[in-house]
Amino acid sequence: MQRERVADDIYVFSSELYAQVTAGAVITSEGAILIDTLIFPEEARAIKHFLETRLDCPIRYVINTHYHADHTYGTCFFKGAQVVSHARCYELLDTRGRAGLEQAQHSAPELRGITLVLPHLVFDSGVLSIHLGNKTVELTPSPGHSPDSIVALVKEDRVLFAADTLMPIPYFVDGSYDDFVASLKALRNGGYENVVQGHGEVVLRGEVETKIEDDLAYLASLRQQVEHAIERELPATALDDIHIERCGKSRIPLNGLVQELHRTNLHALYSELFARRNSYR
Ligand SMILES: [Zn+2]
Repeated sequence: MQRERVADDIYVFSSELYAQVTAGAVITSEGAILIDTLIFPEEARAIKHFLETRLDCPIRYVINTHYHADHTYGTCFFKGAQVVSHARCYELLDTRGRAGLEQAQHSAPELRGITLVLPHLVFDSGVLSIHLGNKTVELTPSPGHSPDSIVALVKEDRVLFAADTLMPIPYFVDGSYDDFVASLKALRNGGYENVVQGHGEVVLRGEVETKIEDDLAYLASLRQQVEHAIERELPATALDDIHIERCGKSRIPLNGLVQELHRTNLHALYSELFARRNSYR
């Protein structure tokens, strides 16, 4: 796991075991607020050790930005913390999350120490502010990557934890294309100092607006090319010719995993638009 300090009181932890997924900690005079918890016990324990032993800062809140395993499995190592999420996250953890964990534990013995933790405090809409010590963390719904996604803004530092609303390529297969576009647009002109992506490198102040516009351009290009394939009545297999570069993104980030995400995006959007077109007929 890599650790980076993005502001005086804010640390980012990036996994070296799974898809450069990130977690973050906001250090306050009354304890820490942890945003996401990574997936493997070894790395979650390393975060705990760093905060509680090295910094002597007890973890008071854990925020689950959405129910996906890579963001929530470590939650069980932070007993005593209040776990906060969107209301849909609670439901999805209790259903899909529970089933997914059971399955994962069959194939990955290193996950057997994980227990599912359901959030203690949830919100549905608007903004939920957590005031702790000298810091305020504002949680806002940001659906698209998944229905329950939220982003977390550290107000005093203008550092945004964008979760998977920002990652090397937008990935909406478990959520909705239209919601993703709306959530990206909502991040425009936020005046952020740094933006922590759910996966990959931290985006610095001068790069944030370009990153958002690049992602919107990718989504627009993807849609245009999928619509074109549907208009020409091409089969879904023709989507394999729409390479990631044709939609304006590199194939390199996340050790090439982005190509698989792109391919899944194409197929999900094709199914959605194809079904929509047929329902109009
Ligand atoms: Zn993720």
